[in-house]
Amino acid sequence: MGWVFSLTVINVDKNRLNYKDYDNVFAVGDATNLPVSKAGATAHFESQYLSNRIAADTSGNVYNELYEGDVACTTVTGYERGITLFFNYNKPPRANFDSKFDYFLKWQSADTFFSSMVRGIA
Ligand SMILES: Cc1cc2nc3c(=O)[nH]c(=O)nc-3n(C[C@H](O)[C@H](O)[C@H](O)COP(=O)(O)OP(=O)(O)OC[C@H]3O[C@@H](n4cnc5c(N)ncnc54)[C@H](O)[C@@H]3O)c2cc1C
Repeated sequence: MGWVFSLTVINVDKNRLNYKDYDNVFAVGDATNLPVSKAGATAHFESQYLSNRIAADTSGNVYNELYEGDVACTTVTGYERGITLFFNYNKPPRANFDSKFDYFLKWQSADTFFSSMVRGIA
């Protein structure tokens, strides 16, 4: 599996999210070598950082923020139960407790994703 991994991941600067050695080529998500759990939520937070960086770069500003791998990821743990995990490059995901609130957070965000975000409404 190791050789497949080394052939397929995109080498990205972990704090700036540009392809190594190039300032204007970018990658986010599962295909990157970023040292953080692969998840849709991860791709989302990486994209958020990157869109801010590109917006600043293309309007002549210098974007000095660094991406530290911060992610908040809500997932379902059981019947009407969910959990929200917070993690970054230095702190791995830790499970604290699940709750009905987190389940509805997940349900609501999934509903918003498919009903609006995918269709470009939100
Ligand atoms: C069963 C399952 C459950 C999951 N549940 C969760 C969850 O609850 N929460 C969560 O946050 N994450 C979850 N994940 C992880 C999440 O789906 C991925 O981390 C996320 O989709 C990664 O997004 P991405 O855009 O990097 O890659 P992808 O979503 O894989 O998108 C890559 C796209 O590129 C396309 N593509 C590939 N090769 C080419 C090519 N050569 N040319 C053109 N297009 C190409 C693919 O068809 C695909 O559409 C789950 C994953 C699985 C498998």
